[in-house]
Formats: sequence, C-alpha cells, structure tokens
Amino acid sequence: MSARMRLTLWVTLMVALLSAFVLTAVLVLNRHSLPEDPASYLTSVVLDNAEDVEFDRGRMEWDDLTVYRRGVYCSFYNDEGELLLAADRENTEFAEIPFEANVIRTVMSGDREYYLYDVYVNMTVSGLWIRGVTRTDSSIGITEIILKLTVIILPVILILTFLGAYWISGRTFRPVRRIVETANSINDADDLTDRIGMKRGPKEMKQLADAFDTMFARLEGLFESERQFTSDASHELRTPVAVILAECERAESKKLTKEEYSETIARIEEQGRRMSQLIEELLGLTRMGQGTEKYPLTESDLSEFISMCVEEYIPENDRGISLETDIDSGITAAFNASLISRAVFNFLQNAYKYGRDGGYITVSLRERNGMAELAVADDGIGIAEADLSRIWNRFWQADPSRGAESGSGLGLAMVKGIAELHKGNAEAVSREGEGSTFFLRIPSAAAETDSSC
Ligand code: ADP
Repeated sequence: MSARMRLTLWVTLMVALLSAFVLTAVLVLNRHSLPEDPASYLTSVVLDNAEDVEFDRGRMEWDDLTVYRRGVYCSFYNDEGELLLAADRENTEFAEIPFEANVIRTVMSGDREYYLYDVYVNMTVSGLWIRGVTRTDSSIGITEIILKLTVIILPVILILTFLGAYWISGRTFRPVRRIVETANSINDADDLTDRIGMKRGPKEMKQLADAFDTMFARLEGLFESERQFTSDASHELRTPVAVILAECERAESKKLTKEEYSETIARIEEQGRRMSQLIEELLGLTRMGQGTEKYPLTESDLSEFISMCVEEYIPENDRGISLETDIDSGITAAFNASLISRAVFNFLQNAYKYGRDGGYITVSLRERNGMAELAVADDGIGIAEADLSRIWNRFWQADPSRGAESGSGLGLAMVKGIAELHKGNAEAVSREGEGSTFFLRIPSAAAETDSSC
C-alpha cells in the first residue's frame, strides 16, 4: 500500500474514532443533563416536592423544596391561589391557569408548548398547590436527533476527511513522485539536464527537491567534464599518436642512417612530451570543474606570491624581451597557490611566445574595486578584435603554426577556469600588431572583510 493511502486511512480512522468518542460523551452528558421523557420527569419532580413539604411550628420549611431541576420549574401557591415561592417570582405566565390536581396538561405560552402538572398537598393547617412546568421539547428525542444527525453527518465528515487527506497527502508526496520520475528519466534517457524545479510546496519537500536538484547539477557537471575530457583527449592525442606511429614505421624499415634514427627518436620524444603536457593540462581543467574540493583556497599575501612566481619563471627562449614588475605590496586574497602560479605561468609563456623580439613584458598587481587585479602586458603581435572572445575557448589558437612548438590552445581556457574557481574573471585587451594585456581578477581579502562587516 502506498504511503499516501496509509496516511489517508490513518487520518480517516482517527477522525472516525474521535467522532465516536465525542458522540458517546455527548450522549452520556445528555442523559445526565436532561430527562428522556419530560412529562414523567415533571411528575416525579413535583411529587418529590409534595413529599418534602414540612411545617415547623406553623411555618413552612422551604429549604428542602426544589424550585428548579433540569428543565422543570416549580411554584408553590396557597389555597387562595397566592404565589408563595417560585424560581422567578416575576414570571407569572402560568399563575392564571386554574389548578387541576394530578393531571398532565399541555399549555401554550407564546409559541412554545409546555407540560403543566399540579399537585395539592392537604395539610391540617392549610393546603398547598405545587405547580410544575417544563417544556415539551426539553429533551424530546434529543438522543434520537443526535443519532440521526450522526448517521447522516458522520459519513459525510468521514468522506470529506478521506478526500481531504488523500488530496493533501497527494500534494505533499508530489515532489517525491517528481524526484522518482526525474531519477528514472535520467536513468532511461541518460539526460542529466533534467531537474525537479519545485517552485512551491511544503517546506521540507522543497528542501528535498532542491537537494536533489543540486545533486543532479553536480552529477551533470562531473559527467560533462568526464565526457569533455574523453572527447578532447581522443581528439587532441590523435595527431601526436599518428606521428609517433609513422616515425616508428619509418624506423622499422631499417634503411635509415644513424642521423635519421636520431631525428626519428627526437621527433618521437617531442610528440611524447607534447602528449604528456596535453594530458596534464586536460586533467587540470577537468579537476578544476570539480571546484574547490580539489583546489582549496587559502588566504595569504598575493603580492609576495606573484613576485615569487615571476622571479622563478624561466622563459623558453628570451629573444631579448625584458620583463618588468609593478606589484603593489600587501594585497591579500584567498587563492590556490598551484592554480595562480599556473595562470601567471600561462600569461608569461604567451607573452614571451607572442611577444616582439627585443620587446618588453610588464607584470603588475593592483587592488581595484575589491578585486586583486593581475595584468600581464606585452608589445607583441596582438590579437584581432574578432578573435578576442574566442581565445578563452579550449584548443582555440589564432594561428596554430605561430606557437605550435609549445602551445596546445588550452592555456587561456585554464586561466578562465582558474578565475571562475576563485569567483573572479579573466579578460584580454589587445590591438593587432601593437600588443596585448591579459587580466586575472580575484576577490581580495579586503573586499571580503568589508562585505562581512
Ligand atoms: P596556446 O597554447 O596556443 O598559447 P592559449 O590558450 O594560451 O593557447 O592561447 C590561445 C590563443 O590566444 C593563442 O594560440 C594565441 O593565438 C592567442 N594568444 C594568447 N596570448 C597571446 C598574446 N600574449 N599575444 C597574442 N596572442 C595571444
């Protein structure tokens, strides 16, 4: 049985039990508060009073007499019809009616019907009329009415309870159904883009749906980066593998001179290095997609760290290019040292690669608008405006032949990933033939302190 049906049946059963309990309580209380048959009860109250009439040294003893009991009003008159005692002495509506002993009569007062019963108590001194009055409907069939109403209303209440509980539990469990459907559709169609996307609903269910959506998004990210890695790796490794195989075939022909063998081995080695660099870069990019779990951020002095990275950088071929630094001291930020050194390395490598012979490179670090801004400027070949937005894409190269000796087209994609992981951004400003400046901005510690204050 489904959880929805169980809950519905439980609520309905509880309401049925509660109704039965309340009904029993009402019937029991009713039995004690009002007599079943008002006429016979009226008679018994009046006769009780008649038995209790006493005289004490010529004076009436009123203390034991009852003027009101459970719907019955009693009044006491002398032989002359004068009212001696009543629950409400002002109320004389029945006083005019002539006495008639031991007979139950039905009288009207206003539009209400009453039973009236008189008893005459004959005493030696004088006589006493006791008149009792009660409404004819004071208890008539009240039990029956309650039972009849119960027979009609209880099923209606139970049906409404069942339907209401079924509807509410249906709405409550809808996100669970949606979660199951989404999980199944992901399973069946291999489509990780599907989400529960619950906008409204019970708080706990919304939290559950949101948690699942976050998990689906994370899974999607992981699968996507794995897919990207596999496709990139197979695509990019195809060329060096083909070159290596061709070189091996050539070497196997055994008609090569010693020099040709050395050349072949050198080419195989170069392709091997290229493949190893590519795999390393691809793995770096893939890991970065998994966020700060793999690359935790630590707050420390960024100025010192950048200066150290620039000092340690050894250009592959310096071509007379001069390197200057303009780093503001004391800028701190939360960053991952291995990633930031990677970004500095990529910027410098590009600046040397695409820089002008005998030109210059400037590395600067400033704090602007809560961001630590690293800028690497060169006066090299620059980038065409149309290409500026594409340089951050994986494997994009303006002219692969220009930097083919060491480039893979992954360097800037990695810098962009590094910026995003630090919740910052990367940007390039360039003019073809004049030079480029590459920026990496990450939130500085000063900004974080400001926002947390
Ligand atoms: P690559 O390994 O080819 O350098 P990158 O991702 O680092 O890959 O750069 C992508 C492309 O952006 C390069 O191929 C080059 O065309 C262009 N580029 C990057 N840096 C510079 C620069 N400093 N000057 C001119 N072009 C650049």
